[in-house]
Amino acid sequence: MKKYLANFVFSAKSPPIPKGVLITDDHGMVLDVLENSDGLEDVLEVEGFLCPGFVNSHCHLELSHLRGMLGEKKGLVDFISPIIEMRKASAEVIQSSMRVAEQEMRANGIVAVGDICNTEDSFGLKSESEMHYHNYIEVLALDPAKAKSVFRDGIKLLDQSTEMGMPSSLVPHAPYTASADLLAMLGEKGRSTGGPLCIHNQESPHENKLFMDGTGPLRDLYTGLGNDLSFFAPTQTNSLEAVLKSVGGNVPLLLVHNTYTTTDDLSKVAEYNSQVSYCLCPNANLYIENRLPDIKLLGAADQLMVLGTDSLASNWTLSILDEMKTISASDPSIELATLISWATNNGAKFLGVDSELGSFEKGKRPGINLIYNVDLENIAIGQRSKVRVLS
Ligand SMILES: [Zn+2]
Repeated sequence: MKKYLANFVFSAKSPPIPKGVLITDDHGMVLDVLENSDGLEDVLEVEGFLCPGFVNSHCHLELSHLRGMLGEKKGLVDFISPIIEMRKASAEVIQSSMRVAEQEMRANGIVAVGDICNTEDSFGLKSESEMHYHNYIEVLALDPAKAKSVFRDGIKLLDQSTEMGMPSSLVPHAPYTASADLLAMLGEKGRSTGGPLCIHNQESPHENKLFMDGTGPLRDLYTGLGNDLSFFAPTQTNSLEAVLKSVGGNVPLLLVHNTYTTTDDLSKVAEYNSQVSYCLCPNANLYIENRLPDIKLLGAADQLMVLGTDSLASNWTLSILDEMKTISASDPSIELATLISWATNNGAKFLGVDSELGSFEKGKRPGINLIYNVDLENIAIGQRSKVRVLS
């Protein structure tokens, strides 16, 4: 048995407990959370904040070999163009880079990952990992004539992932890579299996432009790659509304990034699907577009908020604490307890693993993180804060 006494214990389910005690068995299973250490023996005193293991709700492990290879702050279109060529690398480089990235996530206190897959490259590593992975198998085709064939190919990859023991779902990449037909098929599949679905949403202003009038840098990107978009009929709405309409309601849908999402967009979400959650990847947004989403607006929307790192192609680290630091620095009024619930319990809930992970509650084995170098007076984290994994 272990008894950790910390300056504050964040259970992710209740307000922080000053001088709280977390009691676990030797394998990290929570036995109790106490409000003080009165009468306890063999207490292990630690300096800082205790919180459950982090959930990285959006990652692309298979892009780990692209670390540091793409220019920063150039905007989404200039980010996408070179990736298509750079994805090609030897199997050894891809595998060893993923291994390093997974070790980095573990050292940074991450216990579960919602991970995008375009290939089976990461399946072997994940099936043997102690971390929990949910594989989001992406299918891409803006051309409606290709919807059925990419869906079929996606199902093959999905079955392979499921057979290897990983919870998996079939998802679109972004509004500009899926036809209305494909989105409808993915929505239907999600409803029949319980999902969850995810989509990169409004990561650049050009998505709305493409759906509004069919022009702009995203169309130019397609044309530049030799693709004729004559089949594409602009919906004359924002991209998000087009997606919501096609996917349909009654399916858990994670909107990732939301960098250009507005109040009007949120009202459309409320209209079409009550099971939408928002994933923030602030450091990737700074890396690619050098702009943050309206975090206050999204946070006030009364829907699940979760955090992700995106890939090492578009981030400096795979650290949920680093994402929390960026949010905290941009808006210090967001309480740390709120940020921790986004980083832990909400992510576990969206992935359907909150009976085991996400909070300090009796019987769970959520992982134990100590956040240190913190501001004890204001119960806050700062740029110098670090995380140590205790279990
Ligand atoms: Zn992504």
